[in-house]
Amino acid sequence: MNKFYMVSSVFLHIFQGLMPVLTLIVMQNLLNSVVSSGDIRLILLQFGLFIAIYVLKSAVTMSQTYVEGTLEAVLSKSLNIMIGEKSSSLGLADYENSEINDQLKRASQEASYRPYQLYTQMTGILSSFVTMLSSATLLFLWKWWVVVILFLISLVSVYSILKLNKEQFEIYMNRTPLYRQSWYMTFLLTNDRAVKEVKIFNMSTYLLKRYRDLLQRFFAEDRRILRKRVTITFMYSLLELAVLLGVVWLAIRETFEKKILVGSLYGYIQAIMLTQNQMQALIQGMVQFSQNNLYMEQLFLFLQLPTSDPVRRQKEQATLMVMDDSKEFCMEQILLEGVSFTYSGQTVSSIRNINLTMSRGQTIAIVGKNGSGKSTLIKVLMQLYNDYEGSIKINGRSVRDYDLQRVQDKIGVVFQDFMHYEMSARHNIGFGSIERIEQDEELIYAAQCAAIDQIITKLPQGLDTQLGKWFEDGYQLSGGQWQRVAIARAFLRKADMYILDEPSSFLDPVAERDLLALFLELMKDSIGIFITHRISSARLAQKIVVMDNGEIVEQGTHKELMLLGGLYAEMYNIQANTFSEENLVEVGGRVPG
Ligand code: ADP
Repeated sequence: MNKFYMVSSVFLHIFQGLMPVLTLIVMQNLLNSVVSSGDIRLILLQFGLFIAIYVLKSAVTMSQTYVEGTLEAVLSKSLNIMIGEKSSSLGLADYENSEINDQLKRASQEASYRPYQLYTQMTGILSSFVTMLSSATLLFLWKWWVVVILFLISLVSVYSILKLNKEQFEIYMNRTPLYRQSWYMTFLLTNDRAVKEVKIFNMSTYLLKRYRDLLQRFFAEDRRILRKRVTITFMYSLLELAVLLGVVWLAIRETFEKKILVGSLYGYIQAIMLTQNQMQALIQGMVQFSQNNLYMEQLFLFLQLPTSDPVRRQKEQATLMVMDDSKEFCMEQILLEGVSFTYSGQTVSSIRNINLTMSRGQTIAIVGKNGSGKSTLIKVLMQLYNDYEGSIKINGRSVRDYDLQRVQDKIGVVFQDFMHYEMSARHNIGFGSIERIEQDEELIYAAQCAAIDQIITKLPQGLDTQLGKWFEDGYQLSGGQWQRVAIARAFLRKADMYILDEPSSFLDPVAERDLLALFLELMKDSIGIFITHRISSARLAQKIVVMDNGEIVEQGTHKELMLLGGLYAEMYNIQANTFSEENLVEVGGRVPG
């Protein structure tokens, strides 16, 4: 990600690795000349070298701080963006897959520090290796077998520590799903949307307990591994210390017997300590490196994950030779033939054998009980899933022959669980068609279509008013107002097909009726689909599609379906009865039928 800083940093580390032995040699010579040389000039020269080496050391450290700091920032920034890009390339089905969610969590949680850690460990290993090699050379020249013994001890300890690492990594991998659960507990405890229910149902004690139990479990596992690690390291260092002290004694005896000078004694003791320290640092470094390397494997796995998103897949495969001549098209007619879809991991199809025709200028209401497959049908229609069976045709040609991105661009949708963007009203509406986000008239017109323009223009900063309560000066809208903003967002898009999923969820019956009247008016030139529970609303549509248990059981106009006397008629009668008995007065006689 940055070649210059990387190369500089490697050089600085090699330099840093040489520093201890250089210091040691300079110090050794200085001491030896102090005790044996009568020439003050020689001593001064040695002292001069001594000063130079310390200045150099500071310079290296300072440059390193700068270079490493920059590298760290660059790495974390680039990786976080890479993960963000990868996440946005994933499909809806990927997000509904808990395994992929785990991978995403692991990758994003640690991207800011793990890869850099890995890098510092690599360079740490490099400089330890250089220091160890240079100090071991000194020792080797004096007593070669010392180096051999130290090396053998290290080998044994590396093996046992690496085994432990693997165990730790597995624990860590298996922990991700639980970790995500613990994250969810804190999310519930700290999220403003959840707080009302958490308070009123008095859930916080329970949630906190679950959170604490999970953390306790992690803690117990971590402590067990830590104990093992400390025991292994302790035994290993004890063994090493014995060898070390023996060798130090040897050096002392040789000095006592006047075989070597006191400066050399200092030198050897330092070299022994350095070799041992660096060998340990090297082992530690390699151990941590192998740990983080396992993480990196996971990161790369995630970054290489194939997407389930149909649009991305199509782009990746670039199979679109036919696309060129279909650049500009208008959805005149959409045909679903035998469309079935099963969510991954499910055994039963959520929609089965759907046959449906929709034409420009037509409004279609989809009705049916909860779970009958209405939302699934529109998600499949919008090309959010890849692996449905049957065919979807636009103007007589398979949708897969079109650029799916362009197909999606031609759809304006309000999902049942639409988003509240904690951003300005401009963003909330403008996201419907990002290129029009600065065109106030268009935004206001879209707001008008959703009958929310009056509210927006009266906001303190108009379109630029921050909405929601997450950030400063936010203006909170009501549930119904948020929904209208979402509708305006869909209308901002110059689409060929507009879809409203349950507009009734936040709107009172009168408001829904008004909205649908407006919707029908606006749909003169497009395909309009709305999903609704209210039969009184559904009857406004030109075509009503009744779904039950994943299938279309009836379709036709209100009149036709009433004559048919099936599910629709039954639902209609139930609702009409309830309506006339309970709500007659309240809605001022606007009773359907
Ligand atoms: P509706 O919109 O009519 O209420 P849905 O289309 O949401 O119904 O659901 C149809 C069926 O598909 C239900 O049985 C539901 O449990 C199942 N389902 C919906 N979404 C998913 C999903 N993401 N993964 C697995 N099953 C799902």
